[in-house]
Amino acid sequence: MSQGLITAAYIIAAILFIASLSGLSSQESAKRGNYFGIIGMIIAIVATIASSQVSGLGYITIAMAVGAGIGVRLALKVEMTSMPELIAILHSFVGLAAAFIGFNSFLGHAPLIGSEQVIHNVEVFLGIFIGAVTFTGSLVAFGKLSGKINSSPLSLPGKNWINIAAVASSAYLLVSFVTGDLGLAALIIMTVIALAFGWHLVASIGGADMPVVVSMLNSYSGWAAAATGFMLSNDLLIITGALVGSSGAILSYIMCRAMNRSFASVILGGFGNEITTNSGDEEQGEHFATSSQEVADALNAAKNVIIVPGYGMAVAQAQYPVAELTKRLRAKGKNVRFGIHPVAGRLPGHMNVLLAEAKVPYDIVLEMDEINDDFTKTDVVLVIGANDTVNPAANEPGTPISGMPVLHVWEAEKVVVFKRSMASGYAGVQNPLFFKENSEMLFGDAKASVDAILQSL
Ligand code: NDP
Repeated sequence: MSQGLITAAYIIAAILFIASLSGLSSQESAKRGNYFGIIGMIIAIVATIASSQVSGLGYITIAMAVGAGIGVRLALKVEMTSMPELIAILHSFVGLAAAFIGFNSFLGHAPLIGSEQVIHNVEVFLGIFIGAVTFTGSLVAFGKLSGKINSSPLSLPGKNWINIAAVASSAYLLVSFVTGDLGLAALIIMTVIALAFGWHLVASIGGADMPVVVSMLNSYSGWAAAATGFMLSNDLLIITGALVGSSGAILSYIMCRAMNRSFASVILGGFGNEITTNSGDEEQGEHFATSSQEVADALNAAKNVIIVPGYGMAVAQAQYPVAELTKRLRAKGKNVRFGIHPVAGRLPGHMNVLLAEAKVPYDIVLEMDEINDDFTKTDVVLVIGANDTVNPAANEPGTPISGMPVLHVWEAEKVVVFKRSMASGYAGVQNPLFFKENSEMLFGDAKASVDAILQSL
């Protein structure tokens, strides 16, 4: 394929990637956005393979077939609730690839002279640094999201100094590498530091802040890809990396604002966070258990109902009976709406996706800010598998969720919490909501509980 054709294909692919991102910004157009991305990626891969600079087509084909096979198998197998950990592990692959390409580019590149050599060395160094940080950071995120590692924040003594020392020593090694004082040795020492730095950055962040970490690692993986694009002189990789890097950074910023977190503090591994208490699963008073029949009676008597779903609804796959319950209550003339917290579930928009899948009308699904003032005028709130996002402890200082805005469900006349036990939520903070006088616990799997209410209505 001629260079002109390859450039044209890259431009079309880049436009499709931009259209893809724009499509993904709303639920109605998300599917179309995905198709744009897929077509763009096919064009990009075909054009790259067809380039005269690429050799070893046999190896590439085998590697792609194996990779595609694993990818398709994982995508078909993965549960919706495991998507964030799959995304985290995929980010780690991008980081690892960037680090390998960096070493390859250093060891296998023909010698350059003057400023070209300096620029190439800086690209190699930064590519490996960002790649290594992304690799271990994503592995820790995978561990925390999949429950293989405890989600509470690691707090090593002098943790901020450890981070500062890692950045300062890497900066020193960059200078030594570029000036040629230390060659490969500088790269190897920096890689070890960057691997430890990435691990420490993410390990220091608590469970409740993980949504920001996932989008931040998404951003890092984009910058790692862009750095790889510079090393390989591939314009499309630079553009794609920059798109992923900047959209991930914007998403992290939006999530930080929604969660009332300092962007700088999160990207610096929880810099300045003071956690003094972590109440765990300790009970804080008496709770009242209710039955599906009593909840059905309360719903029959109610005029205004708000449903607040959370991660437990996803685990139970309760969205279909919840949609049916909504339909039945609306048919009886009740005002039923949904209150969605920006970090409910385990990935941005998780609840919206589930409710859309069960065909709940979009216009009754409201964001936290749109509905938070309405709880005082609500007869019954059904909290279905949500915990951290309705925890009033967020309004007190000293816990991992302190300062995070939450849904004020306790302001309603009656709150029914659907869950299986008195266990705390993802952030490990016990929930005083469960012990309030107007709260009742409906114990059991959320799907079974909603099915039982449907029978009793
Ligand atoms: P939580 O994770 O805080 O709590 C979920 C609750 O659901 C648990 O208390 C659990 O209690 C209950 N549950 C689990 N399975 C079932 C079931 N089958 N039936 C009934 N209940 C069940 O949920 P939230 O959605 O309120 O909060 C999300 C948390 O995840 C936040 O801390 C957020 O920061 C974090 N997070 C969010 C991400 C995002 O992008 N949205 C990404 C990463 C983390 P029990 O075991 O007793 O049943």
